[in-house]
Amino acid sequence: MRDVIIIGAGLSGLVCAQRLRQAGVNVRIVEKAAGPGGRMATQRIQGTWVDRGTQYITVRSDAFSRFIYKLEDKGIVQEWTRAIYKLTPDGLLAPDADDMYPRYCSPHGMTAIAKYLAEDQNITFNQRIVGVEVKGDLWHLKSEDGDTFTAGAVVATMPAPQFIPLFEPVMSGVPIFIRTLKMVKFAPSIIVMAGYPSQQVIPSEWQAIVCVDDPMLSWIGLDSSKHPQAQSQPVFVFQSTGEFARLSLDEDNLEIAGKPLLEKVGDYLAPWLSEPEWWQVHRWRYAFVQEPLGVACLSTETPLPLICAGDWCAGDNLEGAYQSGGDAAKSLLEML
Ligand SMILES: Cc1cc2nc3c(=O)[nH]c(=O)nc-3n(C[C@H](O)[C@H](O)[C@H](O)COP(=O)(O)OP(=O)(O)OC[C@H]3O[C@@H](n4cnc5c(N)ncnc54)[C@H](O)[C@@H]3O)c2cc1C
Repeated sequence: MRDVIIIGAGLSGLVCAQRLRQAGVNVRIVEKAAGPGGRMATQRIQGTWVDRGTQYITVRSDAFSRFIYKLEDKGIVQEWTRAIYKLTPDGLLAPDADDMYPRYCSPHGMTAIAKYLAEDQNITFNQRIVGVEVKGDLWHLKSEDGDTFTAGAVVATMPAPQFIPLFEPVMSGVPIFIRTLKMVKFAPSIIVMAGYPSQQVIPSEWQAIVCVDDPMLSWIGLDSSKHPQAQSQPVFVFQSTGEFARLSLDEDNLEIAGKPLLEKVGDYLAPWLSEPEWWQVHRWRYAFVQEPLGVACLSTETPLPLICAGDWCAGDNLEGAYQSGGDAAKSLLEML
């Protein structure tokens, strides 16, 4: 059976690797970051965890419910809230009754899910794939450090716009494949993580707010409410819209990109929110899928077995990534 390399240790890559291993396939994940999780990312700041990627988990399919309930049994996830408020031009609105369903989080940060899935997996971190060649019946993946990883089959789980420049040169035999990937659109986002004095009185009625039709802000989350045992100061996460993030994609100083979001939150909710004790900014160039493909994964055997997977195939969230990773493993096992 061919060896498999998976590019990316986000949820889709980790799920795919787990299924392939269970089927007896020799699989290695190559990941550019120092740890697993991808956009399911948590940052350790001031002695607590702050989710700078995935904020919460919703469950719809039976398969994903079973996965999340298993994580709940292990204490890796727990229910966070049922009430996500809405900030509209008419003010702050409580959720309707049919919007009151469980949202799950991880008390140790969302990355805890990835760390659990990464246990016992063969993962090479800190290796960004920067070049792809086909030699005989092997893929040759070249890393930024000059290392080469070879395998008979590849599963690529990075966002489609990052896949195209890498693989397009070797895929002239299947132009439809690249053309299909070019249809996938992502939006960027600027994330501000901000900590406030411990004595600050926090409104008790909401833990998270979706901003409706706002040109700058899309999300306001009281992140510290997910990590009660950390006993930290109040920590908020503010997410920008794609529209706002696009304006500062080339801005090197991320504080310049993030400051207007703090000011806006202060205007909308309470002036003290504009004056945190500390704050950090993160930029995601490929944060949210705008136009997913609507298929679980995409596969070809030309020039060699290759599967593309990720949230941009099956859906636009963590559940979509989970489904796509599982389907990628199934499709690859049929090919090998
Ligand atoms: C700010 C933000 C908030 C979000 N909030 C939610 C939410 O509340 N609920 C929800 O369900 N979803 C949310 N999402 C979406 C969710 O995070 C994603 O759907 C999911 O994490 C995607 O997983 P994935 O495996 O498809 O891709 P990714 O997590 O992007 O994984 C791809 C991996 O490939 C690696 N990689 C890329 N290029 C290379 C390369 N050249 N070489 C080696 N490795 C490479 C990356 O480092 C990454 O680890 C949010 C996303 C963001 C950014």
